[in-house]
Amino acid sequence: MEDLAGKVAFITGGASGIGLGFARALARRGVRLALADRDAAGLAAAADALTDAGAEVLAITCDVADADSVQQAADSTIARFGKVHVVMNNAGVSLNGSSGAIPLSDWRWIVDINLMGVVHGVEIFVPLIESHGEGGYIINTASMAGHWASSFMAPYTATKFAVVGYSETLAQELAPRGIGVSALCPGWVRTKIAESGRHLPSNADAPQSEAAGAIHDLINNGLSPDVVGEVVIQAMAEKRMHIFTHDDMRPVIDLRRDALQNDFGRAADAVREAEARLSETPSGTE
Ligand code: NAD
Repeated sequence: MEDLAGKVAFITGGASGIGLGFARALARRGVRLALADRDAAGLAAAADALTDAGAEVLAITCDVADADSVQQAADSTIARFGKVHVVMNNAGVSLNGSSGAIPLSDWRWIVDINLMGVVHGVEIFVPLIESHGEGGYIINTASMAGHWASSFMAPYTATKFAVVGYSETLAQELAPRGIGVSALCPGWVRTKIAESGRHLPSNADAPQSEAAGAIHDLINNGLSPDVVGEVVIQAMAEKRMHIFTHDDMRPVIDLRRDALQNDFGRAADAVREAEARLSETPSGTE
């Protein structure tokens, strides 16, 4: 994937935010674009703007939570462009809440989009990328929330940790098959993600929690999606597994590493102590 000009990219959540920022970065390099999003109006506006700027764009209304919908989007992309080289599984939503009071329907909603949406993209597009033998690249949008857990963000955090782990597996598995894989792990980016809660199955009009209000402010002051798009292009060239964008969040990575090292440091002693306790236990009374 050294030379992107003339290649084809498929981007979910391409109507807005990070997906659109990456689309613009690819368009600047002559990549033909298939943008998939469930927001038909936003998609049309994004496609028009990119077309006006000279890009070749196919806009596809698609729900990534629905495997059939992703399959249809893939079929449309192949029908229009013949092949696909770059796939960004990026569509995602956020969900805050206090554990013990999060409706299971909301949990299923976010897992179906943030995790299964990525799985659908991988399962459907890997054979298509392999079929042309020109190689390819998959970028799965995770988050810093895929490396660091925060209170009141359990469902979002769970899906993003899953996307990071899944992407690390894919990177090992797909490298010998000519497909690079990265997990995009940004901090705050100036997008519409905070509005995604309006689609919650439990209550579309739920009032914003205090945590959600604070997150909204951080996002509004976040990094430009266009900068993220450029960072992703460079990371693909460098074949970087994890694509980070927020150096100021390094302390949370260090804290997690230290916590893991501390807990891991107890493993050998803990097993020895357990074996000693068991050896002192009269047999048959365990
Ligand atoms: P955004 O809301 O601006 O864009 C997300 C797009 O995904 C929207 O156009 C939306 O219509 C689309 N979408 C949502 N559900 C969909 C579905 N079921 N099927 C198809 N399209 C769907 O938000 P964004 O911040 O650009 O989000 C993109 C990704 O970036 C998400 O995975 C998000 O979790 C991740 N992310 C965002 C931030 C941030 O601060 N904005 C930080 C880290 C990670």
